[in-house]
Amino acid sequence: MNETKSVREYEGAGGGFIDKLRNTADILLLVSEHTILKRRGDQHIADSCPFCSSGNSLKVDSKKQLYHCFGCGSGGDIFTYVMEKGNASFPEALRYIAERFNVDIEKKKKEETRESIDLREQQALLDDIKDINKQLFNIVNTYLATHPTFPAKEGDPDCPF
Ligand SMILES: [Zn+2]
Repeated sequence: MNETKSVREYEGAGGGFIDKLRNTADILLLVSEHTILKRRGDQHIADSCPFCSSGNSLKVDSKKQLYHCFGCGSGGDIFTYVMEKGNASFPEALRYIAERFNVDIEKKKKEETRESIDLREQQALLDDIKDINKQLFNIVNTYLATHPTFPAKEGDPDCPF
């Protein structure tokens, strides 16, 4: 999958899409894919931690949508859970959760059109060229400063040209 493109897509959506995922996704369902959760008061305790396998050490708070294991120290929200458990990048975790809970991915593309992406890429390219020019300018200047008899004779090993 094209990770760069994904990041760009999600950036275009701002925080709204991430919040929407956070509100829609159920951390209990995600963790239940790897272990059995038992309800204890407001919290759920994992039979065995999906990360370190120790018993009754991972707690899931379904209201805050957070998990934490006292055995291995793993903890976080739905996104860190998918990233850690699935060895996934943040965009991959977003995509996985969106698909898992049927949150529409397509809507977020609206804010950034093909044209604005092109413009930004052109700008980045221009910045690169400016950078290269600056470096070249420095090389030439350094060379001229140390070689007052420029142009150099053919075969001069110090000549950068
Ligand atoms: Zn653990």
